[in-house]
Amino acid sequence: MSIYVYPGSFDPVTNGHMDIIQRAAKLCDKLVVAVLVNSSKNPIFTLDERVDLLKCAVKGIDNVEIESFSGLLIDYMKKKNSKVIIKGLRAVSDFEYELQMALLNKNLDSDIETLFMMTNIHYSFLSSSSVRELARNKGKIDGLVPDCIKDRIIDKFGK
Ligand code: ADP
Repeated sequence: MSIYVYPGSFDPVTNGHMDIIQRAAKLCDKLVVAVLVNSSKNPIFTLDERVDLLKCAVKGIDNVEIESFSGLLIDYMKKKNSKVIIKGLRAVSDFEYELQMALLNKNLDSDIETLFMMTNIHYSFLSSSSVRELARNKGKIDGLVPDCIKDRIIDKFGK
């Protein structure tokens, strides 16, 4: 059984992430979306909130599971019996960091592959930080995040 892992901070999940989730889920038997517990990014949404929002967003996609993890991704991959890390790539600016991470992980465990999926052109400009910035300043986030979580994101920043 092929198990792929899609790690990230998902602070919060966006339609850009959802596009990668939907496409990656078609390539494997099970896709584990793994929410990073201790992100250096100082998340705005708590771990429970980030997991909950994702769970709501993936309802209806049968082979996707939402989990959280701390520590090294490589150790988590072993625990999950997975050999494939899924990453989304937007602009060239993502590339340098992602290349470094992929090579670091390869160095730690040569059996594990990182697969990169190009962003959907419609979401190439979209990041969790831009969604947070819009919501904080009462900008519209329609179409940028799954409908079922939109209100919870707006509520987080106060009405
Ligand atoms: P962000 O960079 O938006 O804060 P994360 O740290 O949660 O997001 O990123 C998790 C993964 O999702 C990374 O591989 C990132 O490149 C990918 N990703 C984020 N936004 C998009 C998007 N709009 N299109 C494709 N991939 C994306």
